[in-house]
Amino acid sequence: MDFSAIIVAAGSGQRAGQGPAKQWRRLAGRPVLRWSAQAMLEAGAAPLVVVVQEADRQQAQAALAGLEGWVLAPGGATRTASVRAGLVALGSGTAPVLIHDAARPFLTKNHIDALLAALADAEGAVPLLPVADTLKRQGDALTTVSRDGLGRAQTPQAFRRPALLAAYAALPGDDAATDDAAVVEANGGRVVATPGDPMLMKLTYPEDFTMAEALAASLAASGRTTRTGQGFDAHRWGPGEAVWLCGVRIDHGQSLIGHSDADAGLHALTDALLGAIGEGDIGDHFPPSDPQWRGAPSSVFLQKAAALVAARGARICNVDVTLICEQPKIKPHRQAMRERIAELLDVAVDQVSVKATTTEGMGFTGRGEGLAAQAMATVESPS
Ligand code: MG
Repeated sequence: MDFSAIIVAAGSGQRAGQGPAKQWRRLAGRPVLRWSAQAMLEAGAAPLVVVVQEADRQQAQAALAGLEGWVLAPGGATRTASVRAGLVALGSGTAPVLIHDAARPFLTKNHIDALLAALADAEGAVPLLPVADTLKRQGDALTTVSRDGLGRAQTPQAFRRPALLAAYAALPGDDAATDDAAVVEANGGRVVATPGDPMLMKLTYPEDFTMAEALAASLAASGRTTRTGQGFDAHRWGPGEAVWLCGVRIDHGQSLIGHSDADAGLHALTDALLGAIGEGDIGDHFPPSDPQWRGAPSSVFLQKAAALVAARGARICNVDVTLICEQPKIKPHRQAMRERIAELLDVAVDQVSVKATTTEGMGFTGRGEGLAAQAMATVESPS
């Protein structure tokens, strides 16, 4: 069934503790928002409107890179205002609308199909999770409240579009509804329940992330595969006063000669990443015949390769570079190189290794004719 969807990701998530707002935190290496958006898109949402604060626009674009069929809309001061903005951004159409909170990352097509089916005889449908715990009301002393008929409303929630638009049109502008079903109910719409699911948990408190990370790791591991790529490069020594190696400038009595900055370490690493995802080699993406790459910093090449990895929904596990030369001495610069590569790839320093070796005077590196580099990269990607 055709449907459109709105994901609300404009909250500041004050209860989730220190650090970035919860939609930007990572679960198994992917931003929380990406989990929700990918599930919606894979289930067929068209279009998918993602409502974010204007200041978070770039972060959202990075989180959703490589997914297709989404648009961003600027969020408001309240959830209600953000949903209103999302409804405007949906444009025209008659298909049902799903509204979802970004902080519930584990929705599936099964949840969505059940909700859409329930709209056959209702204006709205909501996943409802039975209350398992005994409910108490706090006063001077506790009293027990019957839990008969009570349930916890989750998202996504599905609505027939005319009923949803009419309900929001009738809602006073500053009314702060906690979910969209309440808005439709208040306007006389019939809302029914579909089976709720503990997997639709909402990430609210810091401890929720601990549990979600364990779930995400097991979900991410299923249907994903580990790939390895390797790269090799060599450049000739020539006159100069410094050399670029692994993104670090080292004062040296010679320079490496090449079309770009001749950073053989980053070139080998770029090829390793491209190799891991089967995307050709550095020459395919940055032809030496193209004048725009003359003297280019090789960080550009590496970051392009990293962007291609991310666009496939893949994640860099680790990279390992070996520099082969007699001079300069690499060890004093090794940590700076690791830090620079980690920065360029947006990974932790402990995911980056830089090593060096000589060839004991043998061969072209041993004779000081040139410097060579080898690299390996391991990524985890959708299979
Ligand atoms: Mg090269």
